[in-house]
Amino acid sequence: MPDQLSEISSIASRYQAFVFDLDGTILLGETLLPTAARTISELRSQGRTLLFLTNNTTARATEYACKLTRLGLPVEAEEVVTAAHVLIELLRRDMPQARLMVLGERALVMELELAGFVVSDEIAETDVVIASFDRGFGYEKLKRAFRAVRAGARLIATNADRFRPTPEGGEPDAAAIIAAIEASSGSSCEAIVGKPSEAMTRYLLKRLKADPSRCLLVGDRLETDILMANNAGFASALVLTGATSIDEAESSAIAATYILRSLAEILHVQD
Ligand SMILES: [Mg+2]
Repeated sequence: MPDQLSEISSIASRYQAFVFDLDGTILLGETLLPTAARTISELRSQGRTLLFLTNNTTARATEYACKLTRLGLPVEAEEVVTAAHVLIELLRRDMPQARLMVLGERALVMELELAGFVVSDEIAETDVVIASFDRGFGYEKLKRAFRAVRAGARLIATNADRFRPTPEGGEPDAAAIIAAIEASSGSSCEAIVGKPSEAMTRYLLKRLKADPSRCLLVGDRLETDILMANNAGFASALVLTGATSIDEAESSAIAATYILRSLAEILHVQD
């Protein structure tokens, strides 16, 4: 009865809710990692709560769900959480009428507009500048953001990842755009909502509806995924399929509950 045995003594058997990072954990570039589809399918068959989490705002939740489903891992849009969701929650709570200038890509602008926010490049009409990953970033955008912040607009970021790994050698991420605005304006970003923020933790706990000790977060980065899980009281699993090597994992002050060579190890029977 291997299914019952694994149900009793696998890592997965200890948890009710699972949060999976996407890049480097489920996906590598445009392909699924080898054991992702069957691991998720097995957890679904066991009735577990699943969320898929990314700091990346260049695609909407519906687009991530379509992509994963097309690649062979069926996911509903409601199961995908991006930093845009947490940003919208924070804005609705603290600044529901805020007019936004967005240094970000089409998907982020669309999510914010669909949530009812006005997005504009007009400096005089900007209450909050949103800094995010933006491949269309340049001097004109920086100048408008600089002037808006100098005129009193607040500065909030979706995430502070320094770079995104790509097969070609990586791409500068939102940290570079935040730094450019901060360096020129002299103002500091007042909130960064993506992993490993408390805002993201609060959002996940609300969505998972589970005791933190019954949640497992699986990711490939120590300073975002594993740090946030540790701060939230979740168990954490570092997979070595993305940004972190075994040497980095073993020498870091941030320790994961489990270190996995592949995602499927959460289903393996433990000794
Ligand atoms: Mg990752």
